[in-house]
Amino acid sequence: MRNSVYKFWAWLTYPFVLLRKFFNKTKHPTPSIDRARVVITYMYLDEVPDRFMEGRVYIIGQKDHRWVLAFCCPCGCGQIIHLNLLPEASPCWSFSIGKGRISITPSIRRINGCHSHFLIKHGQIIWTKG
Ligand SMILES: [Zn+2]
Repeated sequence: MRNSVYKFWAWLTYPFVLLRKFFNKTKHPTPSIDRARVVITYMYLDEVPDRFMEGRVYIIGQKDHRWVLAFCCPCGCGQIIHLNLLPEASPCWSFSIGKGRISITPSIRRINGCHSHFLIKHGQIIWTKG
């Protein structure tokens, strides 16, 4: 008798279990796989924008004087990363565009927040261990 009650209860609540599973999935997507496939695009701007699009590097400055790269941290933490391009200041990064894809050197290591460490090479994020 107890067994059949349990079975009935399981049958009754089964749709809710499925629903909960579904909502848990949408709430917590697995970021690592999807983000790895994203191609990083770029855009030239005179000034740092008010809004950032994820997966886009903004190259800030005038045509002959680019001074900073700005973009959303690719880990998804929502922080904005600014990379200095001026060789007279340190640390300093440089970028290159090849076949419409951006590369940035050296690697980018966040010393606070999410502590992400990665490279952007030919428009791809390459995560670095440690
Ligand atoms: Zn991050």
